[in-house]
Amino acid sequence: MIYVHVPFCRSFCTYCDFYSEVAAKCSGKSGRNAQENLFGRFAAAVSKELAVRKGDISHIVDTLYIGGGTPSVLPLSFFSSLASALHSAGHTGSFREFTVEVNPDDIVEKGESYVEGLLELGVNRISMGVQSFDDSLLRWMNRRHDSDAARKAYSILENAGVENISIDLIYGISGLSDNGWRRTLEQALTVSSRGRLPSHISSYQLSVEPGSALAGLVEQGKYKEASDEDCRRQYDILCREMAGAGYCHYEISNFALHGYEAVHNSAYWRHVPYLGLGPGAHSFLPYCESSAEAGEDCSGQKHVCAVRRWNKSDLNAYLDAAAAGNFNSVSEFEELGPEEMAMEKIMLSLRTSCGIDGNFLEEHCNRTALDKALADGRLKKTPNGKICIPEGHFFVSDGIVSDIL
Ligand code: SF4
Repeated sequence: MIYVHVPFCRSFCTYCDFYSEVAAKCSGKSGRNAQENLFGRFAAAVSKELAVRKGDISHIVDTLYIGGGTPSVLPLSFFSSLASALHSAGHTGSFREFTVEVNPDDIVEKGESYVEGLLELGVNRISMGVQSFDDSLLRWMNRRHDSDAARKAYSILENAGVENISIDLIYGISGLSDNGWRRTLEQALTVSSRGRLPSHISSYQLSVEPGSALAGLVEQGKYKEASDEDCRRQYDILCREMAGAGYCHYEISNFALHGYEAVHNSAYWRHVPYLGLGPGAHSFLPYCESSAEAGEDCSGQKHVCAVRRWNKSDLNAYLDAAAAGNFNSVSEFEELGPEEMAMEKIMLSLRTSCGIDGNFLEEHCNRTALDKALADGRLKKTPNGKICIPEGHFFVSDGIVSDIL
């Protein structure tokens, strides 16, 4: 698995704390040239990092995810440069899943030819940040697009031939009524002009992240978070509407039509190794595959099982590191021992409807708390020996996990 973090956005959304630099639209020629030059340097830097780090992953790379930030602000030349770098690194076939995150506004502006260009380069899944179909909420979120642009962009994606489209939505916003949320869900389900459902929907509760503009609004008393009860009700509405439309609720925040579960993100939840490229990107690199898959101490002794490494969130430092051909100056890391691996594995697996191997869970958690959660229905055993959180308790999964660990 490879993840590429694109650290550019045209503007910042109110709630967002992801690392990104503003790459505003440039009106003058010199501004445009400077931006093209920056994007070109970024493309070269990512290719260099891939060449330097390709030995870090020994497993088969079958998914590529380009996220951010806003990858769709980049020209097609970025994606073709990445494709060449992958080819040089030995990846000659196609990816089982190749996702690019896009912003509706970019798709409307760049049109079908841009999307066709992505498909020609092997992209087979588009994830579009729609967030809401309520224009006043979109303005409050400082999103660039309105609901019309989201519909238009969706049509462009479909007309260009994208078959696997995921959209993101946000609930739990003060000012979003239950009926308003139902309307957004209804419009999400009918967004296709061809009468097809989006293959995948991710829906997140608005959270106040430190450093975001929203955190500033809360501090100034200009925004009061929605209550837990409101969020819970809207989550329940989401679950009901998605089930009614035929989606499988396969992870706390993710719903898919049959066969369209996200391969890349599902691998994160299974603790599969991945290589992250770009400023702010994280990598997860187990020292042996079995430690990742089973969360076990591979030698039977206490030792480091995996390394989580991340690049500093600093574009200029990243570009300098690439020019020097040495990314150690922008990398930080932590080592994970068997216990940390096991805890992570439990936390990640219990986010999914598949759950976790029952024997593994019994071995690593508080048995009394586990038995209690099984008895009161917050956890359930499945016929194939796994233990999972039933959908009705997904909303409080954090509390369940902390109870049993
Ligand atoms: S939500 Fe997406 S588009 Fe908005 S600032 Fe964050 S990364 Fe950029």
